Amino acid sequence: MKKYKFNNLIVSILVLIVLFSLLIFNYNNSSSISLSDNILTNEQNKKIKDLIDNMTIEEKVGQTCQITLDAILMKDSSGLLIEPHTIDTVKLNKAIFDYKIGSILNVSNHTFSLLKWNSIINKIQTTALLSKHQIPIIYGVDAIHGATYIQKSTLFPQEIGLAATWDTTHAKLMGEITAYETRASGVSWNFSPVLDLGREPIWSRFFETLGEDVYLTKSMGKSIVNGYQGNGIIDKYHVAACLKHYVGYSTPKTGRDRTPALIPNRTMEELYLPPFKAAIDAGALTVMINSGEVNGIPGHANKYLLTDILKNKWGFVGFAVSDWEDLINLHKIAQTDSTLKDAIATAINAGVDMSMVPNNPEYMNYCKLFIELVKEGTVSLTRLDDAVRRILSVKMKLGLLDGMKITKNNDYSKFGSIEHRAAAYNAATESITLLKNKEDILPLSLDKSILVIGPTANSLNCLNGAWTHTWQGLDTSYNNDYPTIKEAIEDRYSSVTFFQGSEMIMKGGDEVDIPSLDLKHAVKKASSCDVAIVCLGELPSTERPGDIYTLDLPDEQQLIVKELSKTGIPIILVLVEGRPKIIRDIEPLSNAIIQAYLPGDQGGLALVDILCGDINPSGKLPYTYPRYNGVIMHYDHKQSELLNANTWKNNFYDPQWDFGFGLSYTTFEYSNMKISSNSFSSKGNLVISVDVANTGKVSGKEVVQLYIRDHFASISPPLKKLKRFLKIELDPMQKKTINFDISSDDLQFYGIENQWIVENGKFSAMINNLSKEFYFQK
Ligand code: BGC
Repeated sequence: MKKYKFNNLIVSILVLIVLFSLLIFNYNNSSSISLSDNILTNEQNKKIKDLIDNMTIEEKVGQTCQITLDAILMKDSSGLLIEPHTIDTVKLNKAIFDYKIGSILNVSNHTFSLLKWNSIINKIQTTALLSKHQIPIIYGVDAIHGATYIQKSTLFPQEIGLAATWDTTHAKLMGEITAYETRASGVSWNFSPVLDLGREPIWSRFFETLGEDVYLTKSMGKSIVNGYQGNGIIDKYHVAACLKHYVGYSTPKTGRDRTPALIPNRTMEELYLPPFKAAIDAGALTVMINSGEVNGIPGHANKYLLTDILKNKWGFVGFAVSDWEDLINLHKIAQTDSTLKDAIATAINAGVDMSMVPNNPEYMNYCKLFIELVKEGTVSLTRLDDAVRRILSVKMKLGLLDGMKITKNNDYSKFGSIEHRAAAYNAATESITLLKNKEDILPLSLDKSILVIGPTANSLNCLNGAWTHTWQGLDTSYNNDYPTIKEAIEDRYSSVTFFQGSEMIMKGGDEVDIPSLDLKHAVKKASSCDVAIVCLGELPSTERPGDIYTLDLPDEQQLIVKELSKTGIPIILVLVEGRPKIIRDIEPLSNAIIQAYLPGDQGGLALVDILCGDINPSGKLPYTYPRYNGVIMHYDHKQSELLNANTWKNNFYDPQWDFGFGLSYTTFEYSNMKISSNSFSSKGNLVISVDVANTGKVSGKEVVQLYIRDHFASISPPLKKLKRFLKIELDPMQKKTINFDISSDDLQFYGIENQWIVENGKFSAMINNLSKEFYFQK
């Protein structure tokens, strides 16, 4: 008996020791989970381990270094790139053999042919394969709405438009086609999607987001990642995704790009982190870091967000790349480190795995300082190995380490094909959002005589926005052969007269709007036309060059509507804009209003098909369209934001249009809303159903949107939150029953104790104009 007891004690102690060591082991290794844990084979993992075991510190540091293509191109004596862009073999050899760099990015304000891309990438890779360990370069570009830097590629709507389709199949297809066409050039890494929430419309990169809502962004973002990366098997038609810009980048306090954001922990947890988490769970292989700072901590120095949350808590096994020069910027701009060397140590120790130190000689300096840091022990070899293992694992996953093949573009016969174009066109048609249609003025029959006017009417660049052919998207020399809005209307309608109305030019880094002399001719002509299509908006721009002072649509553009409206001609206002410009004054003067966003190369064709009624519009706003510059509210506001000092009523919510809003040429009726039970608990779920009928005369698509309201909560609750959506198609007289399933997870919020919780109580489920109450009881 005694012996038995003694044995038991020993066993218990042994168990405790094993558990304790496992805990310690896990803790120490929690930031070094390898990709092999879930996506690489044992053999691939062993190959990576053997490689790392045989690499010198210099070789390892080199793998973490990313330079821009310009740094290895031929330049003239004044430092300008020589045309046509040609690789300077001396510089390439220096980067690969002396500095052992692991990655190259971008292309400088040029769009190359597929052949040119192939020759550039092939030269880089054949050189890399001559290096000691024969490790290819991972090449990255910003193919953010199609293969944006390859001539004759397929260009989709920018993300803000893609989100307006409210259809994840378009997001996935955009991802698949972009991956295919990008890979055709030999590039296997795409700096996309942007998962920053678009809650600050004045921010220059608003158009790169999927709008203001966390659930919509999560759903569309995951689908884009699936499209880029395939179903986990990254073959020669897929690329690695890069989630941008982790995290909190999109909400700078000043509205200006790369300026500080203040984000309470709760808001971070509820709004900004979830889209990234969802995309990591979907297998995204890389992440790019926020160039700005949140609550005083620069994104690149934020160990909590990069290591504790992203890598340890979420188990992210890919690598995190810095944004442009952002290690240098810790010293130069954020001033959180007094030397560049300290900045490198801070960033790498915080969890940055690869550094975009694009230029020459900065990248050489980075390598030199990083090597010193490892030799001195300021950055541990374990941290360096972890970063290199992550980078090599992604290279392995992309097939770069496993007998990499040189890309031949005849393997990519569908590049720029009719099939690809059709997908981009479909996405554009489903993104375009009809915001007003007084007395059903639209669609316009083909016999109408049309006056087309406005600065965005005859510009393919305006349809595409920035990151198209060049960074700012202003160069016209690479434009594909697709019609502008004016040209598409001219092709379809027999009586069309075009006036410029006003011009937009870039001057001193800002858009300047100039009234056009032909406006008075347009006003004269108006009496002999049936309708005016007025195309307004903004010039392409992004990042700092896209910073603006006000959301107001420039007076010169508003003047076109004001002057024309005096003639009595019906006005169709078409907005070609990446962010919602304030149009409060001209909205009442317009008979119809169409939001085109930045619909891409197919935008002209898509728009004319909507104008003439061949396509029934089905886009819905992915953001709340503000009425006033100074009142930016979101659909998921709280009761406490609503007190109106003029009426003393809780009605201070008056956007121009609400999130999720969009009209159709048909009408839909919602009825028969049901819930499976009046109460449910954590163990169960709730089925919410509704009937939707097409009560109009034409077929149409409708987005059924389910919102939930928590009536009382210990943290003041939003009045509604989007929880599910589904885009459906209905013929006239057709009716469908839609079922949505929700669980207690959908009722969660980030509680006082900084944990996700659900509280008992009353909730409402809301679909269109219907609602049902239910109770949650744990
Ligand atoms: C942008 C990133 C982009 C990178 C590479 C940066 O300036 O912020 O979004 O991916 O440049 O082009």
